Amino acid sequence: MRDNIYVTSPLLPPLEEFIPYLEQIWQSKHLTNAGPFHQQLEAELANYLGVEHLCLFSNGTLALLTALQALRVKGEVITTPYSFVATAHSILWNSLTPVFVDIDPLTCNMDPAKIEAAITPETTAILPVHCYGIPCDVDEIQRIADMYDLRVIYDAAHAFGVKQDGLSVLNQGDLSILSFHATKVFNTVEGGAIICRDAKMKKRIDFLKNFGFADETTVVATGINGKMNEVQAAFGMLQLRHIDDALEKRRAVYQRYQSLLQNIPGLRLLEAPENVEWNCAYVPVFIGPEFGCSRDSIYEQMKKENIFTRRYFYPLISEFPMYRGLPSARPGHLSVAESVSASVLCLPVYPTLTLQEVDEIVELLLSFSAHRSGPQIKMAVAEI
Ligand SMILES: *Cc1c(COP(=O)(O)O)cnc(C)c1O
Repeated sequence: MRDNIYVTSPLLPPLEEFIPYLEQIWQSKHLTNAGPFHQQLEAELANYLGVEHLCLFSNGTLALLTALQALRVKGEVITTPYSFVATAHSILWNSLTPVFVDIDPLTCNMDPAKIEAAITPETTAILPVHCYGIPCDVDEIQRIADMYDLRVIYDAAHAFGVKQDGLSVLNQGDLSILSFHATKVFNTVEGGAIICRDAKMKKRIDFLKNFGFADETTVVATGINGKMNEVQAAFGMLQLRHIDDALEKRRAVYQRYQSLLQNIPGLRLLEAPENVEWNCAYVPVFIGPEFGCSRDSIYEQMKKENIFTRRYFYPLISEFPMYRGLPSARPGHLSVAESVSASVLCLPVYPTLTLQEVDEIVELLLSFSAHRSGPQIKMAVAEI
């Protein structure tokens, strides 16, 4: 029996490469509170990502919570039900009201054509997600935000390193947040960041993540403890040395899936638009009735073969108990998100996944298809 294959596996550079970083921390005895690695990682990440200002956090959820605080968001926040639950939790945790808007069936991102109908006098912000790392329709979202004087915070947890027309997508909106959780493209075990446009906002966010301290004796805001520690930051510095190689390997895995899963009846693979430099953060496939085997049956049967795919995002956030009573969570209002959520299956993708493993995953997946012509597909897979 082969080893278990999970949907992701963390980017883990060789252990011996991490030792010198730890020795430096032990020598400096500076374990946290904007230490040398923290400062270095902020500068190098901003440079690598092509953004002006970046504030590190101990995780992405605290970055989201703080982003809403930093912009003093009130009332209602328009968001997507098709995301990881932390997106909407950050709204509720700030005592704000999430208003769900349906998604576009091709990109899985918030459908901008449905935003205006969700705006009320209480609306102050839009919190979209660059789902799977595919950029939202940022121009249209900004146009609507400008028209109604709304703030825009992008949950860019999936969008590390993603560029559109050669520019970082992280410069869009008022703020963007990143997650560096172990399962993400770039990780600091746990970690995250807020990307902002000016030094004044960076200062405010830096105060907020350190209890609101402006100096030793002055507290200017009801801040929180969101600081990234030196061990996390040092791990991030090491990750940066390996990230280009990791991204290249992800793209090779995705391209293998793409070449093997073309023109399969009832199966669609997510694709990035031509002007987008995508990070292949996830490889979702959408299973239609024509495939001849249900999404959940494929999921269960692959599990039996030790291949652990994930149904990102099922259930929808709007189906969880603390959200389902909201007017915007009513049945039928989010029909596109409902049908995408019922058909999606995320296939394994990570830098150390071999192309041979991809072939095995595809072979197994296609064995469930009603259209499978047995040996012929097997041969096609072997020939590539
Ligand atoms: C991972 C993730 C988060 C949360 O980040 P953490 O670092 O795990 O707190 C938020 N939003 C989305 C879309 C995510 O995928």
